Amino acid sequence: MTPTPHIAVLGSANMDLVAYVAKAPQRGETVTGREFRTVPGGKGANQAIAAARAGATVSMIGAVGTDAYGTRLRSTLEHSGVDTDLLRTVETSTGTAHIVVDDDGGNSIVVIPGANGSLTALAPGDEGLIASADALLLQLEVPVDGVLAAARAARRHGVRTVLTPAPAQPLPPELLAATDLLLPNEHEAAALTGITDDPHAAAGALLSQVPEVVITLGSRGSLYAARGAEPVVVPARRVTAVDTTGAGDTFAGTLAVALAEGDSVTEALGWASAAAALSVQRTGASASMPYRSEIDGEAE
Ligand code: ADP
Repeated sequence: MTPTPHIAVLGSANMDLVAYVAKAPQRGETVTGREFRTVPGGKGANQAIAAARAGATVSMIGAVGTDAYGTRLRSTLEHSGVDTDLLRTVETSTGTAHIVVDDDGGNSIVVIPGANGSLTALAPGDEGLIASADALLLQLEVPVDGVLAAARAARRHGVRTVLTPAPAQPLPPELLAATDLLLPNEHEAAALTGITDDPHAAAGALLSQVPEVVITLGSRGSLYAARGAEPVVVPARRVTAVDTTGAGDTFAGTLAVALAEGDSVTEALGWASAAAALSVQRTGASASMPYRSEIDGEAE
């Protein structure tokens, strides 16, 4: 049996505050909405939960505030089996995303980073944890200085780094230099390269900066490219999607687990695609993420 892989995640934990309305208010207007939900999220927490449900031992480096949202996020992570020893509680508000969803499915979002903004550097214990992991998952919803410090620590200890460059933003060359696998969706790949309609060309351009790239293409699947190798396209499962929120995070978490278990790239992409396809058939981000037995059942 493959030993259980250990995945470290450094990233955001947010509470999504979602208001459902017929029509979003204009400036100065007040509208009565239909429903309100609080949904645990943040790309860091989502990827951690995806990897834990996929069967890894997962440790999350992050920060929540001293409010009730922080307490709930911590317990959501712990219930999913994520180790939160290095999830700090800082004297500010927990990160929140204020989301208004209208009846046309359109949304507008205000993100307040709150405690996530405190992750500008590694804290005692972080480097030791990263050193003990098989892979480090990173995204960009926390300050880039913190992401860079974590990537450099991983590099010092020979730990593979997987960076989801979201939200899209220009990346410092030092961060790309410390990244092993870059995992953008097609919009992020286009933003990074300026190549909007050709994922193969975008992947080729990114390979001048990182050794391996996976571009996720929504219902069209994913594209793997590595220096000196033929690109591989893995189609997505044909399913009826009801909510694609968190598909990319499910894909990232499960891909890291499969690669850490020693699967070939094609096997790992197939497994991650099966997991992401399961997640899009259910509502919610982390709530929709599948467990290992479900993924194995699908991937057979
Ligand atoms: P993100 O959520 O970051 O925007 P994508 O939309 O590219 O990322 O989705 C990530 C992965 O999830 C895809 O590569 C694919 O495997 C899977 N996926 C996304 N949408 C669908 C869909 N409609 N049907 C099946 N699989 C999907």
